[in-house]
Amino acid sequence: MRLRNIPRAEGVLQAHPIVIKEENNQKGKWNQIFGNDHPIYIEIGMGKGQFLMTLAKQNPDINYIGIERYSSVLLRAVEKYEEFCGRDIVPGKEGMELPELIVDPELPNIRFVCMDAGLITDAFAPGEVARIYLNFSDPWPKKRHARRRLTSKEFLKRYDQILAKDGRVEFKTDNRDLFAFSLEEVTEAGWTLEASTWDLHHDETMNQGNVMTEYEAKFSSMGNPIHKLIAGR
Ligand code: SAM
Repeated sequence: MRLRNIPRAEGVLQAHPIVIKEENNQKGKWNQIFGNDHPIYIEIGMGKGQFLMTLAKQNPDINYIGIERYSSVLLRAVEKYEEFCGRDIVPGKEGMELPELIVDPELPNIRFVCMDAGLITDAFAPGEVARIYLNFSDPWPKKRHARRRLTSKEFLKRYDQILAKDGRVEFKTDNRDLFAFSLEEVTEAGWTLEASTWDLHHDETMNQGNVMTEYEAKFSSMGNPIHKLIAGR
């Protein structure tokens, strides 16, 4: 997902306390931001963030961090967050002064970061992350771009560095080729495939408690089966 550049995005992201700036300074001390020792779950490539906000609401004892590369997309997530918290404001609408921007006391366990996941080990210390969600990651279909896929061996190596001992990666996609590639990479990287399905929505066990992402809702409504794997070390 890449939206056209939105001029006001940078200003809003700078001003909003839900967005953590200079994320590398938080390495090893993310829990200070949340003021507790709850486990940290991250989503890489969160898009508009509906999935992570829903989980944050459902699980107040887990801290969630959404990572998104593009500021124009992250702006949409911030707008969604405001809407999700029931505030009727559009942060930084063109020509309007910024309203007061706060971390909602009803949803204190979520933050967003604008960064490229290739640099994830600069922002998180060894063992700091308990779970990594990858949802409908970009497929990078050309073979020469395989290293850019978020489930490639190269990325698994990075995740290995930041995941806690029993930490795991959960990946969903409707892209068959990317899913087949991911199953292979998990095994070749020496990870353990804990569970997998080619048809999540018809797999009673794996679909239990499933929270749909924006892309998942769109693609499953078109009849595409959703694939999911869970991998640990
Ligand atoms: N996860 C959301 C969902 O399922 O609805 C959005 C899926 S969208 C296809 C993929 C998102 O991942 C895009 O917003 C893209 O900008 C982001 N993304 C892709 N590669 C990334 C990377 N290396 N670091 C951070 N974000 C990335």
